[in-house]
Amino acid sequence: MRKTMILAMVLFFLGAVETGSAEAEEDPEQDIYAERMALYKNMESVTHIPWYWLAGADAYERGIRRAGNDREEAEGVISIYYSPKEWSGPLNPEFDAENPVAVSMFNGAGLDGNGNGTASLSEDADVLYTFAHYLSGYGYDDNNIRKGLWDYYKRDQAVRSITNHARIYRKYGTLDLDEHAFPVPLRYNYSYNNTWGDSRGWGGRRIHEGTDIFADYRTPVRATSYGVVELTGWNKYGGWRLGIRDLTNTYHYFGHLTSYEEGLEKGDIVAPGETIGYVGSSGYGPPGTEGKFPPHLHYGMYRDNGYSEWSFDPYPSLKSWEKQAKKEA
Ligand SMILES: [Zn+2]
Repeated sequence: MRKTMILAMVLFFLGAVETGSAEAEEDPEQDIYAERMALYKNMESVTHIPWYWLAGADAYERGIRRAGNDREEAEGVISIYYSPKEWSGPLNPEFDAENPVAVSMFNGAGLDGNGNGTASLSEDADVLYTFAHYLSGYGYDDNNIRKGLWDYYKRDQAVRSITNHARIYRKYGTLDLDEHAFPVPLRYNYSYNNTWGDSRGWGGRRIHEGTDIFADYRTPVRATSYGVVELTGWNKYGGWRLGIRDLTNTYHYFGHLTSYEEGLEKGDIVAPGETIGYVGSSGYGPPGTEGKFPPHLHYGMYRDNGYSEWSFDPYPSLKSWEKQAKKEA
């Protein structure tokens, strides 16, 4: 009885999504957000897992797919990933089995979320329902969901990123959070060049993992994306530094600050353009060391592929955010 009801709800919702897509044809990005949000909210009503947790996990996996090359592109709008083996069951002789009874017999994870009689890896509703149903086995409150995520990913950074993504989505109530900002307000004097990979003068053989934006002491430093402050405090290289994780799992590193924005703390949610600190020359010594080099913001970006993180050149992103800011000025 309950199952029939669930299927009816899912089918109803699928009809609604298709109508929505046709209307929003003008902006494909908005269209995808609407489609995703409808899927999350529908699965919330069916499994009682809050939509923002599903959105958080999906965003984490979208970032992982973009950063790595060991997964094929997502076919639909949902990025949560199951290998065909996990989905159909490790001993299932039919590698791409979609019959829910057979999949379940072989201990495959795959479930039929849209009630069309197949458990299909290429159907968003099936994939999302399978994931949400797994989490609902742990309970519906934040701590139980985090426990379910830990058992699923077995990785601290995965649970941390998903938790923070979920907090951001919950706060803003929308998926449309791709906006960026240049880290220094354009009206201040600043300059930067592409110094990616240059050798550094202090602390042994290291290469320069970032872009230096030279500016006067106390020039405001701003968040470049929506994200959560994941790190603050002193480091002998970076001085007073700050790290923000965005919704694509990219980690944005701000080094050599003279101070943080008052009241800003680890765990805070920030928006693009929000002041987080001030340019300085801290670092290259014990806590409080300043003035060993001209004041500048060291800006670094790190990608997460689900196993490890590595830095990539932030210069092209900075250029494009600066261009965008000039256009809007
Ligand atoms: Zn630097």
